[in-house]
Amino acid sequence: MLKRFIQSCFLTVLAVFSFASQSYALDLNAVRFGLHQDKTRLVLDLDRTADYRAFVLGDPYRMVIDLPAFEWKAGEVESPQNAGVLETRHGNLKPGISRIVFDMNRPISIQKAFVLPANGAKPPRLVIDFANVSAGLFKQTQSAIYGSLNVEDVKSNVVAKGTTQAPRVPIPPKKAEKPLIIIDPGHGGVDPGAIGSNGVYEKKVVLAIAKELKKQLLDSGQYRVKLTRETDIFIKLSDRVKIARKHDGDLFLSVHADSLEDPSVQGASFYTLSEKASDAQTARLAARENKADLIAGIDLTVEDKDVANMLLDIAMRETSNQSNFFANTLVDRFKADSVKTLVTAHRSAGFAVLKAPDIPSVLVEAGFMSNKKEADLLNTHAHRKKIAKALKKGIDRYFEQVRKNQRI
Ligand code: ZN
Repeated sequence: MLKRFIQSCFLTVLAVFSFASQSYALDLNAVRFGLHQDKTRLVLDLDRTADYRAFVLGDPYRMVIDLPAFEWKAGEVESPQNAGVLETRHGNLKPGISRIVFDMNRPISIQKAFVLPANGAKPPRLVIDFANVSAGLFKQTQSAIYGSLNVEDVKSNVVAKGTTQAPRVPIPPKKAEKPLIIIDPGHGGVDPGAIGSNGVYEKKVVLAIAKELKKQLLDSGQYRVKLTRETDIFIKLSDRVKIARKHDGDLFLSVHADSLEDPSVQGASFYTLSEKASDAQTARLAARENKADLIAGIDLTVEDKDVANMLLDIAMRETSNQSNFFANTLVDRFKADSVKTLVTAHRSAGFAVLKAPDIPSVLVEAGFMSNKKEADLLNTHAHRKKIAKALKKGIDRYFEQVRKNQRI
C-alpha cells in the first residue's frame, strides 16, 4: 500500500517535471556570427538566461554547445565564409538537453564563453568567442569545457532568471597544476586598516590569518598559495589584483577585519563585487576600503579609469557566478564550524580589490575591530586558526564542485 502510494507520488512528480520541462523549453531564436580581427564571436539569442556547456572536438573538428532542451526558432544558420563553419546541426542529446554542433573546417579554440542577461531591446544571449589555432595548440586546449550545464543530472539545471547555487559554477579550463590560491591580507605599511580599541591593527591581524591559511592549504598538499604581501608593506589595490592575474590565480581571497559605525555588530561576512551595493553598511565599507590607496597618496583618477573598464568587463563574465558560489560556500562552512557570521553574511558592493575580471574573488571580513569582544578574539592565535580552518574548508568545497563539473 505504502509502496504504491510512493510510486504514485513519484509518477506525479515525474509527470509534473516532464510537463514543466516541456512547457518551459528554452527558445533559441537566432544564431549569429561576428567576424573580428582576432576571433569569431558566436551569439545565440535566447528567451531567458540558461546554463550551457561548450567545448571543441577533433577529428573532424567540431564545436559543441549543450543547452537545456530548446525549441529551435533560429531557422537556417548563415555563417560568414571566413568563420570556418561547414555545417550546423542540432537536436536532442537526451531528455532535457539539446545540442548544437558546428562542423568546422579547421582547428579552433574557445577563448571565452558567457551569458548576458536581457539588456534593453537585446534578448538574453549566450556568447562564445573562438579563434583559429594550430593543430598542436588545439590538442593542448581541447579538454577545456566552458559553462556549468549538468548533463548527468538534468533536473539540477535551472532555466530561469536569478541565480542558483552549486550547479552554476562554471568550469574553468583544466590546468595540470594544483589550483593556485591568492590570499590578499588587506592594508599594510602606511595603511594600518582598522585599529581595535585594544590597540590591535587590522593589517597585523589579517596578515596572521593569511599566513595561517597559507600553512593549512600547503599542509593539505592540494594547493599552491601566493600571498599578495608577506610583510608589513603597502600595496595598491590595483596591484593586488595585478599580482593575482600575473600569477594566473584560480581563486582570490582578500582578508580583512574592519570597523563599522555600530560597535555591537560582530561576526564574519563575505563580500563579492557588484555595481550596486547590497546595503548601506556594505556601501560604506567598500567606500572606506577603496580609500586605502588614498591613504598612501595614490592618484585615484588614474586608477579609477582602469577600474571602470574592469567593472564593465566583469559584468559580462561568469566570474561573478563563481565568486558568488565561493562566497556562499564560505558562509556554509563558517556556519557548519560554528564561527559566528552576520545574519546576512554574503553581501556585495564595488570593492576595487575584487575586480580581477577572470579570477573568482571574495573579500572576507573575518570579524570587526569595532566590536570589543571580536577585536580581542582576533588577537588570539586560536581564533585565527579557527577562521583559517573554516576558510580552508570553503576552498576545499569550492574545488570539489569545480572538479565534479569537470568530470562531466
Ligand atoms: Zn580592511
